[in-house]
Amino acid sequence: MCDTLQRIDNVAQSHRRPAPRLLTVSKTQPARAVAGLATAFTELDADGIPAFGENYVQEAAAKQAELATIAGVPPIEWHLIGHLQSNKAREAATLFDWVQTIDRSKLIAALARHRPAGRTPLNLLIQVNIDDEAGKHGCRPDQVAALAAQIAGHPNLRLRGLMAIPAPSPDDAVRRQAFAAMRECFEILRSAHPDVDTLSMGMSDDYPLAIAEGATMVRIGTALFGKRG
Ligand SMILES: *Cc1c(COP(=O)(O)O)cnc(C)c1O
Repeated sequence: MCDTLQRIDNVAQSHRRPAPRLLTVSKTQPARAVAGLATAFTELDADGIPAFGENYVQEAAAKQAELATIAGVPPIEWHLIGHLQSNKAREAATLFDWVQTIDRSKLIAALARHRPAGRTPLNLLIQVNIDDEAGKHGCRPDQVAALAAQIAGHPNLRLRGLMAIPAPSPDDAVRRQAFAAMRECFEILRSAHPDVDTLSMGMSDDYPLAIAEGATMVRIGTALFGKRG
């Protein structure tokens, strides 16, 4: 945890950018590993709330239930980073603080309907299929404005920005180009919605490139936990 936070800071500094927030990706990891990293994070950064990302609603529900039985776990902010089916929107709107995978109108309406009364607004990122990959989730860049306007119309949802998973490529220049294209989308979005503050991009093997292009949140699993089994 310490090494990764340090490396994120160093990369950001070398590009004269503010350090992005770390989202720890805990898919397939047991609750006790989450508890350990959440505690380590809180010891390193007393003011920050540890943020964890899960890909599946069911897995997150089970893990959160188990964490509730472990003593001394600090409060955790939960992010959904996997594709969300509309029929799971009710559960997702209860379990998560953020949903990073908004790519269609129907999902926005369902999450607004199901966010429990009395909770803070659900934070949303619009997922962009930046490399226009066939069969991949995410909207096209030209669909972002309409989805953003729809989110802005719901008081119990809060538009925070954009998320992307660029196509894998052995060529750093190609990947960096995708991150740069995302930053451009983000600037356009921000001109219409000045409050957006989050550009979520970069994973274990490419986060330095994403930070170079202005990521404000990096999503890291393998570099923190080791290879998934
Ligand atoms: C699994 C996953 C990550 C983390 O990937 P690592 O390579 O393990 O760092 C980040 N974002 C999304 C959307 C993921 O599904």
